[in-house]
Amino acid sequence: MSHILHRNLRQVPPIAVSSDGIRIRDKAGRIYIDACGGAAVSSLGHGHPDVVAAMHRQIDRCAYAHTAFFTTDAAEELADRLVAGAPQELTGVYLVSGGSEAMEAALKLARQYWVEAGEPQRTLFVARRQSYHGNTLGALAVGGNEPRRKDFAPLLMNTVRVGACYEYRGRAAHQSTDDYTAGLLDELETQILRAGPDNIIAFCAEPVVGATGGAIPPTPGYFQGVRDICDRYRILFIADEVMCGMGRTGTMYAIEQEGVAPDIIAVGKGLGAGYQPIGAVLAHQTIADCLKGGSGVFQHGHTYIGHPVAAAAALAVQKVIERDDLLARVRSRGATLRRMLGDVFGTHEHVGDIRGRGMFMALEFVQDRATKAPFAPERRLHAAVKAKAMENGLMVYAAGGTIDGQVGDHVLLAPPFIATAADLS
Ligand code: PLP
Repeated sequence: MSHILHRNLRQVPPIAVSSDGIRIRDKAGRIYIDACGGAAVSSLGHGHPDVVAAMHRQIDRCAYAHTAFFTTDAAEELADRLVAGAPQELTGVYLVSGGSEAMEAALKLARQYWVEAGEPQRTLFVARRQSYHGNTLGALAVGGNEPRRKDFAPLLMNTVRVGACYEYRGRAAHQSTDDYTAGLLDELETQILRAGPDNIIAFCAEPVVGATGGAIPPTPGYFQGVRDICDRYRILFIADEVMCGMGRTGTMYAIEQEGVAPDIIAVGKGLGAGYQPIGAVLAHQTIADCLKGGSGVFQHGHTYIGHPVAAAAALAVQKVIERDDLLARVRSRGATLRRMLGDVFGTHEHVGDIRGRGMFMALEFVQDRATKAPFAPERRLHAAVKAKAMENGLMVYAAGGTIDGQVGDHVLLAPPFIATAADLS
């Protein structure tokens, strides 16, 4: 019997005992191919020697130093690298221990910025229905994952909600993509005007929707429209790149492909690539300068922020991505993966859509391809597909997202960037 409250409280998962490259071995000797990087985490696969060595070196040198007393070379160098690769003027870095923490810190940083800028009446966030921003109460409040929100709804701050850019389900047959996009932007503007632009702190969105939608890329021009609206009404734009960032879509930040820069970016997962729990918030210089020139303190903090071993691991991950030109590889292997998925599932009667960017792909299941009608909630396929894949030694991520407020029906594939063409087949 296990005393751990596992994700499925009625079931103890296999015990992982070793891992190497794209494979994890369990105690019974079974081997699983990691086709989803856990949850789009393990971008370098398992047991990467450079990352392991960097962690060892940091542990030997200085395993922990509280940030109220010290900084470390690892944390400083990591922050420098993140800034160098980020959209212009995102120059403030706050290191945390994961994605929810990154979003929580991003929300608080945005709020404190407005307070210190003399606009404390701003108390609202605008966010999208198909979205997941984490499980802590602030991040859950802005997220749209209904199954995860339901029991906690009375505890969550009020959030202004708009539609996500989910063309497969959202665009009507008679609409062009441009018309669909314009409609979404109209809705965003209308909701901002209804709530009062001066009451809004920020708009939050995942550039490529992950868990709640299944690797949904935006339509062309959508984020340019978002940026214009945020600028027009002086609202911050927070890009949640916890899942889609750190190279997963073929550029270090997914938003780069949209040609706009957010005011704040949250990253996690691929930052430490699973070697250590780490996340980060990147903030525009204006925000950092406002706090530096104001109270001088970000009213936040956890014991493990800026953890030296986590920073050393993330730094090593960044160096490997650059040295081995892995972003180019994500783009080319991603194209291969898409082609292969199309060849195998392109005409499958229950696969409605195959989509994604780079090595971040999803299959959405439907009962009827022609009408896109999903299966009834209790008959949705994703959990069964995940279980069947595990039985056959393959890990795919059954994303518990939402369709019309119900659990959605898709699986995510997010293989390690180091996967070879042979691995993908
Ligand atoms: N934001 C996004 C877009 C995510 O996909 C996730 C996790 O899936 C989170 C935030 C929360 O990250 P974590 O689970 O590391 O707390």
